[in-house]
Parts: sequence; C-alpha cells; structure tokens
Amino acid sequence: MPERIRMKTPIVEMDGDEMTRVLWRWVKERLLLPHIDLKTEYYDLGLAKREETGDRVTTAAAEAALRLGVAVKCATITPNAERVKEYGLSEMWKSPNGTIRAILDGTVFRAPILARGIVPYIPTWTKPITIARHAYGDVYRNVEFSVGAGCRAELVVTDGGGSAARATIHAFDGGGVVQGLYNTDESIASFARACFSYALDTKQDLWFATKDTISKTYDRRFKDTFETIFEAEYEKAFADAGISYFYTLIDDMVARVLRSEGGCIWACKNYDGDVMSDMTAAAYGSLAMMRSVLVSPKGAFEYEAAHGTVQRHYYKYQKGEKTSTNPIATIFAWSGAIRKRGESDGLPALVDFADRLERVCLETIEAGVMTGDLFALSRLTNKTEADTETFLRAVAERLAG
Ligand code: NAP
Ligand code: MG
Repeated sequence: MPERIRMKTPIVEMDGDEMTRVLWRWVKERLLLPHIDLKTEYYDLGLAKREETGDRVTTAAAEAALRLGVAVKCATITPNAERVKEYGLSEMWKSPNGTIRAILDGTVFRAPILARGIVPYIPTWTKPITIARHAYGDVYRNVEFSVGAGCRAELVVTDGGGSAARATIHAFDGGGVVQGLYNTDESIASFARACFSYALDTKQDLWFATKDTISKTYDRRFKDTFETIFEAEYEKAFADAGISYFYTLIDDMVARVLRSEGGCIWACKNYDGDVMSDMTAAAYGSLAMMRSVLVSPKGAFEYEAAHGTVQRHYYKYQKGEKTSTNPIATIFAWSGAIRKRGESDGLPALVDFADRLERVCLETIEAGVMTGDLFALSRLTNKTEADTETFLRAVAERLAG
C-alpha cells in the first residue's frame, strides 16, 4: 500500500445529522483515510451535541473556520416543533448554517456537477451555472410585525447625534403586516469582491441583477457598489482574462439565463439566491449533484453539500434497509476542502488527490453505476442502479486502482 498523503494544517470538520452523518463516516473511512493521513479539528454539530452545549459548539466551529481558513460541513437538522419533540430539545436552536453565515459573512457559490448521460431539464444549459448567493442580511435578518386596524407603521432611523429621519410606511385601515430589512456597505462590498474574484479565478463571466427600478435606494446601493468596485479594481483584469461583467434587472435576468447555454456566474441577493439555487439544482437534475462553498471576506472557505440530512432515507437505514442516498455532494464537499487546504498549504499531492477523487466519482457514474436519483435521470443505456454502499465501493475500487 502506498504511503498516505501527509497534511500540514487541519481542516475544520463539522459533523451533522441523520443520513448525511452516516455518509460522512462512510466517505471518510472508505475514500479518504486509506489515502490521506487526515488531520481535522472536529466539531460535532449533530443535534444532540448542540443541545448538550447550548449550541455553543456551532459558534466554536465557525470561529475555528475563521482561524484555520478551511472547513467542511455535513448537513444538519434545523429544528422545528417536531424535532424539538423528537430530540427532547430545551430550545428550538437556530439553523447552524444561519449562525455560521452570520459569523463568516460572505457569499455562497453553488454549481452543478455535470456527468455524461445526465441531461438537464433545460437542454440548452450545457455548461454549469454558478449561483453566487450573498449570505448576509435582507429578509434573513428582518424584523417584522403583525399589525392591527388603525396602526400606522413608520420607519425611524436615529443617527449618532440622536436626530431621527422618519417616514410613514403605511397607515392601516384593516390588519396587515410590516417588516424592516437592512444590509451594510461593508457586506455588500465584500459580496461584490467575492464575486469578481471568483469570476477571475474560474474564468467565467459575472452576471448580476437586482430590482433597482423599484428599490431606488436599497437595491440601487448593490448596483452602484458592484459598478464602483468593478471599475476601480477589476475592469482591467477582466479584460485581460477575456471575461465580462454584466448588470441588468432581475426579471430581465431570469429570461436571459433561461435562454443561455450556462457557463457563467449569476450573482444574487440573499433571497434571490435562496430561490434560484434550488431552481438551478432541480433543472440540472439533483441537489445531490451540486458543489457549494461559502467564501468569507475574512479569508475562510466552508464547503458543504447543498441538500439536507435526507431524513426519509435515514429512517430506512435505521431499519437495516439499503438506501439510495447519493453521496456525491458530500464527497465533493470533502474534495473541495482538501483541494483548498492543499493549495493554501502548498501541498500539490492533496490537490491532485482531490482532483482524482472527483474524476473517479464521475467516471463511475459515466460507466453506468449510480444511485437511484441519477438512475431515473440518466440517458445511458448500460446503467445499473446501485445502493449507497455499492456505489461507494465502486468509487473506492477505482480510486485504489
Ligand atoms: P433533504 O434532506 O434535502 O431531502 C429531501 C428529499 O430530497 C429526500 O427525501 C430525497 O428524496 C431527496 N434527496 C436529498 N438529498 C439526496 C441525496 N443525497 N440522494 C438522494 N436523494 C436526495 O430535505 P428535507 O427532507 O426537507 O430536510 C431534512 C432535514 O435537513 C431537515 O431537518 C432540514 O432542517 C435539514 N436541512 C439541512 C440543510 C443543511 O444543513 N445544509 C439544508 C436543507 C435542509 P426521496 O425521498 O424522494 O428519495
Ligand atoms: Mg432554498
């Protein structure tokens, strides 16, 4: 057996819940540990541990990501009323992704993983569309009220000297709802820089859209920030790289993306990115065939799978039944983190391993061995449906060979 690849700096490892927690262990044991002398700083974000630590483990994991620069995260349960009962929680703990994003700030880049035989629902999308989602503020940090008849909602902003600007939002004759949103110049600027840098890094055009004709101050700030930063810092590098930056209105953008062949980065405000990343994932076939990375302006990278904990499969697994869970997104979260760790520590063997692991996964699928979600989509004629462990075994054999 060849010697295992050595690492320098540990990767922050954030374990999670249910079926993805099972996948996590299988991927490490069967694909990573035989080849890498894996160094990680381990944080258990499984719901039991979050309960036990009053969710402090989530904050500690995010801080570790800032300190060590590269993290990989397993999918985790965001508790709702049912989960509070199921796990006997003392509190309905917040979404770990929300907590981590609030600490790291940053932009989430999500791109489909394309394999021969899997044809997107939009057949003109022959190249991946990367969604860049601003992961801070807007409706995810809102304040909202339900209001009664006769209420008047006002927006009041008090400056450091105590003087206030105020405006009436609406005087309610009947009941209704009202909400306040915010973002910061700092976060918008780092969103812009993350998008421009990522475009240069991956040599793809960058498209951005908001609704600045309606939101003349809020959305306009996003548009202007992108434009100013592009002209001052990136215009020349874009020209040298032969790529472009393009801005339009969000409704025009949707039509253009639909008619495009893909191969670009689509920068989205937080909510647009939430919706559009699920739309593109579905169009390219499966949430299990997406890469996802949170790029923090503070210099940290957090890799994850875009899907959830696949609860329904977990209950089958617990009954001892075979599962059809596709491990690709979890494997690519690991390969993404390993590649980044290799690049930042100057360890080409780690980078090569990450490339090879991804290639071998795609070769396995393209040779016709795949989990049920892909089996239903694949146009290959010689395909066979593999359960999760059979698929992992096929990948492990290719990786060893
Ligand atoms: P989900 O775990 O993404 O699963 C929804 C369905 O999508 C599954 O039942 C399965 O369909 C299919 N699916 C998802 N991933 C798959 C994979 N790798 N291979 C094959 N099929 C896959 O979403 P959910 O059931 O709505 O949420 C479950 C838990 O995950 C929730 O507690 C939620 O809070 C959490 N969640 C976490 C994250 C995160 O940590 N990033 C994101 C979203 C949700 P079939 O059943 O038809 O096979
Ligand atoms: Mg979503």
